[in-house]
Amino acid sequence: MIEISGHTQLTGLLGSPVAHSISPMMHNEAFRRLGLDFVYLAFDVKKPQLAAALEGLKALGVRGFNLTMPLKSAMAQLADELSPAARLCGAVNTIVNDNGVLKGYTTDGTGYMRAAARAGHPLPGKVMTLLGAGGAATAILVQGALDGMKEIRVFNRKSPTYEKAEALAAQLCAKTSCRVTLHDLNDTDALGESLQTSDILTNATNIGMAPDIDSCPIADETMLPPGLVVSDIIYNPRETKLMRLAKSRGCEAFNGLYMLLYQGAESFRLWTGMDMPVDIIREKMTYREE
Ligand code: NAP
Repeated sequence: MIEISGHTQLTGLLGSPVAHSISPMMHNEAFRRLGLDFVYLAFDVKKPQLAAALEGLKALGVRGFNLTMPLKSAMAQLADELSPAARLCGAVNTIVNDNGVLKGYTTDGTGYMRAAARAGHPLPGKVMTLLGAGGAATAILVQGALDGMKEIRVFNRKSPTYEKAEALAAQLCAKTSCRVTLHDLNDTDALGESLQTSDILTNATNIGMAPDIDSCPIADETMLPPGLVVSDIIYNPRETKLMRLAKSRGCEAFNGLYMLLYQGAESFRLWTGMDMPVDIIREKMTYREE
């Protein structure tokens, strides 16, 4: 248990629903392990209450907080300052309160880049086929482009999300050295061709996420050339159908668990200046699942 004192600094999570989140466990365990006088709480806040909640948090002098559904885009409008990645994403999942100035960041993309590097696949200079153009995919796309990936080919079904992604792809091509292209996820030929010349396939759609565990974003395993690295940002189930197919082709595959841990670790670093003991937290998560 964390000892609350008169000096304890408050951090937390705003969103709705939040009761299921593992973030309080992650951050409180890390504070405890490092002996930091901080606490992390979850607050169920809906969009109409966000502005009032921000005024209150500012008045109370909290150190910072995370934002989850449905508040990430609204927070990008209300933050006083935005990091380059948060500005490009139009979404904020982490706020640092610097003496009443709310600085907005997005850490999902950094979390993914660090998770890939940890799996032995640093991504700068590499070519990615990215499935999905929603919130998490956008964070990966933006961070990948900012971090010097050579090319990212985004595949999404034709939808309002696809139309939104067109503007971002053009912006990233203009502002970074990364070549970003957008394709229809239902164009199996284009997807197959892209996979032949990619270093990594990243699934950032919901396809394959529990309870829909028999779904897979690719038609069959013959689309995966041996040597392609396959990553799924889904972490429930731990091994998706896509990952199973990849392994059957001799491809290396990793899931979204370390992305989840490293996005939290990046928020933690922004608030405390310290590195989260990620491996200890990972063990604790396994223990909780048993
Ligand atoms: P989101 O903003 O709702 O985006 C979902 C994406 O999946 C969109 O591109 C959507 O396309 C696509 N999609 C959904 N169902 C589809 C279907 N049946 N066929 C084709 N495309 C489909 O959600 P998100 O927040 O980005 O989350 C996406 C996934 O990433 C979830 O499984 C989530 O658990 C996981 N995630 C993991 C982490 C982590 O730390 N590991 C972090 C965030 C999210 P349309 O918009 O066109 O429907």
